[in-house]
Amino acid sequence: MSNRRIIILGAGLSGLSVAWHLQGKGTNCQIFEKESEIGGLCRSKKVNGFTFDYDGHSLHFRDSYTFNLIKSLLGSNLLEHQRSAWIYSHGKYSHYPFQANLYSLPHPIIKECLLGFTQVFRDMHSKKKVNNFLDWINQTFGEGIAKHFMIPYNTKFWTVSPQELTCEWLNGLIPIPSLNQIIEGAVKENEKQFGYNSRFWYPKRGGIIQVPLAFASSIKNVHTNCQITEINLKRKEIKIVPNNIEKFDYLISTVPLPELSYLIKEMPEGISILFKNLRWNSIFNLNLGIEEKDYSKRHWIYFPQKEICFFRVGFFNNFSPELSPVNSTSLYTEVAYSKDKPIDKDEIVLHIKEDLKKIGIISSEDKILVQDINDIKYGYPIYDRNYQYARRKILEYLKKNNIISCGRYGSWRYMSIEDCILEGKELVEQFF
Ligand SMILES: Cc1cc2nc3c(=O)[nH]c(=O)nc-3n(C[C@H](O)[C@H](O)[C@H](O)COP(=O)(O)OP(=O)(O)OC[C@H]3O[C@@H](n4cnc5c(N)ncnc54)[C@H](O)[C@@H]3O)c2cc1C
Repeated sequence: MSNRRIIILGAGLSGLSVAWHLQGKGTNCQIFEKESEIGGLCRSKKVNGFTFDYDGHSLHFRDSYTFNLIKSLLGSNLLEHQRSAWIYSHGKYSHYPFQANLYSLPHPIIKECLLGFTQVFRDMHSKKKVNNFLDWINQTFGEGIAKHFMIPYNTKFWTVSPQELTCEWLNGLIPIPSLNQIIEGAVKENEKQFGYNSRFWYPKRGGIIQVPLAFASSIKNVHTNCQITEINLKRKEIKIVPNNIEKFDYLISTVPLPELSYLIKEMPEGISILFKNLRWNSIFNLNLGIEEKDYSKRHWIYFPQKEICFFRVGFFNNFSPELSPVNSTSLYTEVAYSKDKPIDKDEIVLHIKEDLKKIGIISSEDKILVQDINDIKYGYPIYDRNYQYARRKILEYLKKNNIISCGRYGSWRYMSIEDCILEGKELVEQFF
């Protein structure tokens, strides 16, 4: 295998993980990245003394292989955190997840949520088929929790109704506490932490880009400023801007699927139609550096309500104090949008700042020292009814043509940093 020409498109974490694992087996490859630096979505930038990520990122692990690998790559540049995640609802803060921490809500709402959840138990033996994510919400949590958090939050985040979504992406992402735990959390703050990321890690210095940089430090043949503009399947060639052509035996692509469809020449009509079925949301991320110390120690807060434009706000300075100057706060805000729910990009920054003031995260007196905008076109693939069929057929077609499409946007899945690293390892074991 080692004399085959393997080309990797994209030097985000997925491309780097494939290259790192290939190299570990003594197999050469070349990586072409269109940006001037590696890292993809997992990048950071320095602005006037503040280190901002391209939207908040934390490291969480379900697998000891990835955990040990990151530990060995980052060494002492790694901080461990007990997550401090919150929900802002009905004018109050309570711990994440909503369903296990109803205690701070107004009493009639706690009652509605508890009654709804106990009804789920009463209906246990007459459960209906789960046809979509909305059914799953109602049948897992009951009407109260659905109405006061699950439906508004998920509609805001996905930008489409939960009824349009399947449950294929869930994979343990939403914690399901027991009846006992829900009742306990309704009378007082729940001591138990829930969810896959109750502990997380983050680089002490330099932001999340330290992870891809650590991978790349030992990888050969990473070419930045090299955008692929065409893939010729017959000739097994790629065209690279400005004027270079490379031959391949295997192409490992982490390019977002919708973009890949424009690169491949002479694609059969039946396949290009499938690409048009792919839907996604986008994330407008505004980062702010503020001349005022944040004492909250919170990592991030979820906002389910329609009246507030962002769905989450996080605090970089609580991920690592080295990300912002002393006595300052650095925060990220995230607004989801899509073709189904567009935003006005001329107004959104103002709107975010107004909403931050409305809920008291910043005040009119606070001095904003820096602001930084990242408009992330591909945020989360939307798992609608067409998703599974379109994705499977597209990936099959690509594989038949020696293109292994992987990564969050290449394999078109809700993937974390860890998932991307693991997929790179598994792919190398499977194919090379
Ligand atoms: C808002 C948001 C928050 C997230 N938060 C977390 C988190 O807290 N924890 C976590 O574990 N994960 C998180 N993730 C997921 C994580 O960022 C991704 O899983 C991971 O970074 C994806 O890496 P990738 O290499 O698959 O894709 P990308 O990072 O998108 O890399 C693809 C690369 O391909 C390059 N490219 C594209 N087109 C071309 C072309 N034509 N020619 C050459 N190069 C090209 C791009 O420039 C890019 O560098 C988050 C994702 C989002 C959207």
